[in-house]
Amino acid sequence: MRKSVSGTTRSAGRNMSGFGSEDPREMPAHLFDRSLRVNYETAVPADTGKQNCSICPRYWYVDAIFRCVRCDAAFSFSVTEQRAWYEDYGFWIDSLPRHCPACRRDLRDLKAVRQEYDDNVANALRDGDLESKKQLARVIDRLYELGGELPPRINRNRRRLALQIARAEGGAA
Ligand SMILES: [Zn+2]
Repeated sequence: MRKSVSGTTRSAGRNMSGFGSEDPREMPAHLFDRSLRVNYETAVPADTGKQNCSICPRYWYVDAIFRCVRCDAAFSFSVTEQRAWYEDYGFWIDSLPRHCPACRRDLRDLKAVRQEYDDNVANALRDGDLESKKQLARVIDRLYELGGELPPRINRNRRRLALQIARAEGGAA
């Protein structure tokens, strides 16, 4: 995936300034697409050799403010995070965060809890003991708390569990 950028920058000359290689303010706008603000005075040079890009690397990391698409909060995508994203994690150079840190945490939780649901739903409903039914009910409640879009059958299964738990605790099971 990695490509050399020499050649693309050398011949560009002054009028193109090679994707902002000399001046962070001349970096292509799409590298900060949908940002509310880019604080150019925070710019630090990047190690472009560690980046995954096709033609246009990020020569600089620059603190930038974005708006979260989930909760609408403004959040900072910092120089430090950018270096981690593009040099350590190997994220594609055009990728940008769409969510604030709190929403990213929620979405990660949501994914993990959803996995726990998927792993346990069949057994807990069919022949799980009372504790495993209660645990699955808690998992579903957590899913609703995290506010993901959930298929209707999860809601139906939550009602089935409530019924099963009530019966078991009433001694009828
Ligand atoms: Zn958010």
